[in-house]
Amino acid sequence: MRTGSNGCGLARGTGPRSHVQRAIDGLKKRVAILGSTGSIGRNCLDVLGGLGDEFEVVGLAARGSWQLLAQQSEQWHPRLVALCDAEHAGALRNSLNGTTGVLDGPEAMTTLIDECECDTVVCAVVGAAGLAATHRAVERGLRVALANKEAMVVAGALLVSLARERGALIIPIDSEHSAVFQAMQAGRPDEVRRVILTASGGPFREWTREQIAEATVADALNHPTWDMGPKISIDSATMMNKALEIIEARWMFGLEPENIEVIIHPESIVHSLVEFCDGSIIAQLGMPDMRIPIQYALTYPERRNCPSDRLDLTTLRQLTFEEPDEERFPALRLGREAACRGGSAGAVLNAANEAAVGLFREGKIRFAAISELVERALDGHHWLASPSLEDLMAADRWARDEVTQCATG
Ligand code: MG
Repeated sequence: MRTGSNGCGLARGTGPRSHVQRAIDGLKKRVAILGSTGSIGRNCLDVLGGLGDEFEVVGLAARGSWQLLAQQSEQWHPRLVALCDAEHAGALRNSLNGTTGVLDGPEAMTTLIDECECDTVVCAVVGAAGLAATHRAVERGLRVALANKEAMVVAGALLVSLARERGALIIPIDSEHSAVFQAMQAGRPDEVRRVILTASGGPFREWTREQIAEATVADALNHPTWDMGPKISIDSATMMNKALEIIEARWMFGLEPENIEVIIHPESIVHSLVEFCDGSIIAQLGMPDMRIPIQYALTYPERRNCPSDRLDLTTLRQLTFEEPDEERFPALRLGREAACRGGSAGAVLNAANEAAVGLFREGKIRFAAISELVERALDGHHWLASPSLEDLMAADRWARDEVTQCATG
């Protein structure tokens, strides 16, 4: 058992669980982390370590990193673990030696949500691969701490209406959306005039269009302010990440796309802003450390101390803001278009981008081709106004095939 204070000051026995200990366990929040071996998942476990006994990890899930999943399982003792890549499930089972139940295969994450008795699901899977599990968590009316922005981009309209129907609480982990979520608490939704999402500008903020077109994978992975996984780092370099975030904000906060703006803020200190109808702008500031939004998504509406470094305003020489350049970063325009069109457009933009980023990482296409291929897919797809989950998954598959054919055919 991890040590830590839950602040209630009750004594605990060391032998069989006392009635006091059982009462404390009953009050614990039970967390499942989908994508526990990735950057957000590891930060989430770090946060949970600091939060102590108030939380219990009951489920961990990863795509393929079975060795790290085994280590995490030995440390956190979840009831169940899930490994999507069934090939290594045997090795994981051997390593855990019967101490923890192991689910495997493509349905493993949704089964984990059904069976691990969690009340909070941290969705930190990368890409549309997290959609089915996110949908299940919402369907079960759980608290959903959402880092998997792609799920919201693909199926935001569906997820938000389902959450309302089932009483699920979707709380953003994405730093900009966490900032907006926090700033929104200063007024009522109908008092919001606009939301301003900040963007670091990525590694190519000062590059010319010609330089950007020929950027290498190593260039694109070299993010100036945030330490993140490879997919989101490349999305940050194309600024497709901000395109996805426009769509994410549109659904998560029920905003009209014309009321969502993007501003370049290279210091990554102001995480986003909300302007209210009286002209007041409320911003959230903090160190660029994902543990802050992760923790808030777990403890909301309360706040706890966080191991993050504190922001020292006196050492910040200046905070700068500039207009984004849609000529050099056409992804922004595509994101706005997809947000305005709604329906199946988000699914197509997202899947085309995931496929194109994959091809770029394999060295099969130029950097500039990522946005070009996404635009072709958006233009060519058969748009649906009110798609079902199955329609969205079909649109996703179509867009991936389309990008692969355009790039390699
Ligand atoms: Mg973000």
